[in-house]
Amino acid sequence: NPQNQTMEFQAEVKQLLNIVIHSLYTDREIFLRELISNAADALEKLRYQRVAGENVDNEELSLEIGIELNEEQNSLSIIDTGIGMTREELIQNLGTIAHSGSKAFIKYLSEGDKKDFNLIGQFGVGFYSAFMVAEKVTVESQSYLPGATGCTWRSEGAGSYTIEDNAELTRGTRITLKLKEDAQQFSKAETIKRIIKQYSGFVPFPILVQGEKINTVQAIWTKNKNEVSEEDYNEFYKYVANAYDEPLLKLHFSADAPININALLFVPKTNLEGFGFGRMEPGVSLYCRKVLIQQQSKEILPDWLRFVKGVVDSEELPLNISRETMQDSALISKLRRVLTGRFLKFLNEQAKNSPEKYNEFWETFGAYLKEGLATDFTHRNELVKLLRFESSKSEQLASLQDYLDRMKEDQQQIYYFNGPNRETIEASPYMEIFKDKDLEVLYTREAADDYILSQLGEFEGKKIVSVDQSDLDIEGFADRDQAQSLSAEETNDLITWLKDALGDKVTEVKESKRLADSPAIVLNPDHLSSSIQRMMQLMNK
Ligand code: ADP
Ligand code: MG
Repeated sequence: NPQNQTMEFQAEVKQLLNIVIHSLYTDREIFLRELISNAADALEKLRYQRVAGENVDNEELSLEIGIELNEEQNSLSIIDTGIGMTREELIQNLGTIAHSGSKAFIKYLSEGDKKDFNLIGQFGVGFYSAFMVAEKVTVESQSYLPGATGCTWRSEGAGSYTIEDNAELTRGTRITLKLKEDAQQFSKAETIKRIIKQYSGFVPFPILVQGEKINTVQAIWTKNKNEVSEEDYNEFYKYVANAYDEPLLKLHFSADAPININALLFVPKTNLEGFGFGRMEPGVSLYCRKVLIQQQSKEILPDWLRFVKGVVDSEELPLNISRETMQDSALISKLRRVLTGRFLKFLNEQAKNSPEKYNEFWETFGAYLKEGLATDFTHRNELVKLLRFESSKSEQLASLQDYLDRMKEDQQQIYYFNGPNRETIEASPYMEIFKDKDLEVLYTREAADDYILSQLGEFEGKKIVSVDQSDLDIEGFADRDQAQSLSAEETNDLITWLKDALGDKVTEVKESKRLADSPAIVLNPDHLSSSIQRMMQLMNK
């Protein structure tokens, strides 16, 4: 009977199946994600055909994914009303490998001790993961093409499969897994619901388990902002961030140029690293057309934005992109650059429109932006604008731009000074001249601040200098009241005596006009502030 064929799997598929069937993987449950993602793809394609005005068989069928469980028979079916497959497509898609995915995946699995089966979908061979839990797989499929004949495909995974005609079907695909004895948990509704919530919560089609719709969470990042309520956003945040509270900030945006992006990003209220949780994993997952490509992607944002949570979806990503290709993909770099730029712009908008909220953000996550400034030159200009400091002129945090705006007309430099707190800084003799001249000084607290400022060197053409630099050239110095000064001779005698007394503890003793009340001051000969010198001393130990 020509309608009833027995076919051999392609050699590479055989090899892959052999590994899949005979290996004990702990994360077997990912098979469900793979089959659901295939069902969602098939539905997505059908949706496209409909949108494109093509004739579609069983037009009236609603686009959804059903899961039927039979505990007695130890089986599970995944049913979709998607595009379906013809006989040729079944042979092509489930028996041969169009791309080199299977070979690459086998190589990946055999190299070293990397055995992350989770990646199977990223190699474009997700279907075969069904054989991790099933001793027999049956695929009944009816193509959407009017007039196509339905077919049943069967395999036990051992080298061959059969195909026969089946006239009883409606459009779409039903995949039935006769579960292995040790995989009985996958015929139980609570297990299946849990797995779906974990991996497929945002599949953009209803998923019904035993007729009950369970994925209430929608792919809200692809919706219009005015279609999403604040409550939806908060719920979604709790889901993606594993959080129990609400986010501090939220950015929802879409763009078509220079690259297609739908993104929904959140900043939490608390910084876990600050609570001693160790280094955080990145918190943004990468989707392509609402199908998860990479959870907690390390590639999609720079490491210093690891506190950001959310979802990025780009239609331009190939669905089967692997982690290896992701790292050096020009597309991913472009995505990262655009996304980072947009996020920093958003922070700048926040700073302008809701400064109090921004300051709260800065207090919690400012250190990450400083990390960005110190390690990443790509976004330097945007990051500099986001810096905040305490200031001698204001109780509010000040940006470098605030400083410029308040600057005296002929002032040429931006001054800063490092100290443990405001009181100590303000009592310091270094500050005398600045109080006297009514010049603003930014107060830095951490060596990291000084490191960044000395790296920057200038802002908008104004030199940035630490007030403890010896060659500090303070505007209008010389006009200080000299009436009670020592004579030149007395000064010289004092200097000679000090040099003798201090010996090689100092490199130089000089007359200075910067002090008002204190008799003497210690200054740094180099262009390094004291806090950086302290840091360097620590590092050299
Ligand atoms: P990938 O999804 O990355 O292409 P898979 O191994 O998961 O790799 O699936 C192989 C192919 O089988 C798919 O590309 C698709 O053409 C076809 N396929 C699998 N499941 C379905 C389905 N439910 N409906 C229609 N086609 C399917
Ligand atoms: Mg797939």
